[in-house]
Amino acid sequence: MTPTIPRKVTIEDDAVVIEWSDGAICRYGHRDLRLACACAACMDEMSGRRVLKPAQVPEDVFAVDYLKVGKYALQFLWSDGHATGIYPFRMLREMCKGGSAAGG
Ligand SMILES: [Zn+2]
Repeated sequence: MTPTIPRKVTIEDDAVVIEWSDGAICRYGHRDLRLACACAACMDEMSGRRVLKPAQVPEDVFAVDYLKVGKYALQFLWSDGHATGIYPFRMLREMCKGGSAAGG
């Protein structure tokens, strides 16, 4: 079973678009993705409780850039200066269960 990996990541004006190896194309709103950050600063590791308050994140936050982390995750650099969040492929793919196959 080959893991589902991003074939292509594009940062657009209104969304981050990921084309997956299974053919799904998923659009992630910049702010939605920023709010989903699960790093130690945004999520309490002990309790799993989200520490990040949506009010702390600018309405117009956007991804400036991204890096691939090993073979399992993406790391985004956000316009609010936050860059410690790691987004495992599996989590990203799960955020987009309704992702349409290519062509939609
Ligand atoms: Zn974070």
